Amino acid sequence: MAQPFRFRVNQHGPAGSPVRETFEPAAPKPGWVRLELRAMALNHLDLWTTVGLPGYPLPLPVTPGCDGAGVLDAVGEGTALPPGVEAGGSVMIAPGLSCGLCPACLRGDDMLCPTYGVLGHVADGTAATHVLVPAANLLPIPGNWSFEQAAAFPLVFLTAWEMLVHKARLCPGETVLVWGGGSGVGSAAIQLVKALGGSAIAVVGNDEKAMKCWDLGAEHVIVRGDLKALPGKVRDLTGKRGVDVVFEHTGALTWGASLAACARGGRIVTCGATTGRETTFDLRALFAKQLQVLGSYMGRREHLWTLLSLVQKNPTNPPFRPVIDRVFDLGDYPEAQRHLERGQGFGKVVCRV
Ligand SMILES: [Zn+2]
Repeated sequence: MAQPFRFRVNQHGPAGSPVRETFEPAAPKPGWVRLELRAMALNHLDLWTTVGLPGYPLPLPVTPGCDGAGVLDAVGEGTALPPGVEAGGSVMIAPGLSCGLCPACLRGDDMLCPTYGVLGHVADGTAATHVLVPAANLLPIPGNWSFEQAAAFPLVFLTAWEMLVHKARLCPGETVLVWGGGSGVGSAAIQLVKALGGSAIAVVGNDEKAMKCWDLGAEHVIVRGDLKALPGKVRDLTGKRGVDVVFEHTGALTWGASLAACARGGRIVTCGATTGRETTFDLRALFAKQLQVLGSYMGRREHLWTLLSLVQKNPTNPPFRPVIDRVFDLGDYPEAQRHLERGQGFGKVVCRV
């Protein structure tokens, strides 16, 4: 095999600025394993890791990349492996890292662990030929999925599942407004809403993306246009009620429309702020309509096993699958970051190793 390499954020800079370097992959310590990666997928966290987050200093240098799939090529001494995973086998990675010892971890809420962080953000990630992860973060690859599909799955589906099922507590028959239906997390949410018996109203930037949202099972699609007009369009589609749940990850630009689009008693669940992190709003909208605002970040690692079991029930025709926008070579990871930042694609941006 060619010389192992990885991309490094040595100092924060614009999207695409991580630097390629060769390295000697370390042996895994007890409890950990080493993967020879075959594919990795990008997330907005790759961009935040690269650009830097005001008020959240990251340990640098770091290799970005939260999602990955590959072959298990070394196992730390005395390390047990999860069910369905064997040395030399194909695996995908659960991206959340936690201590495994604190009360939150012991009750399964690993994303509430005081030390919780995401691979590629707080530890060296998957923009590399090799990565070290705890054995507890391995999952078998379902059905006949490719490494690219496996890499594109964990972070966005875990995030969307946590938001819809455990934060917003979506019930069958309810309506969900999904911002950014063409994004990785948005395309996951549209499919999960349908699988859970709800109706998704997807918001996208153009007609081409709208067609793809229909294909994923959206009940209605709104091409964004003027944001001030959007709550009216949502009311027209919901018999003047508004939606039960707003699936937010876009932030400042869309927040006012999210509040206005909610039915009485609606829930706004948010996992991101890609258009800006600060906003103001009229508190009267919150209490008069009896709304709930719910923050969400990643999800229980356990629930990746739930999602996996739903796929494995019908691997040839699963209720949801990752949507891949474009596959780059790992050597072109900086260009893949710039492509993600432009936001023109539909679904996940993946690099093949
Ligand atoms: Zn913990």
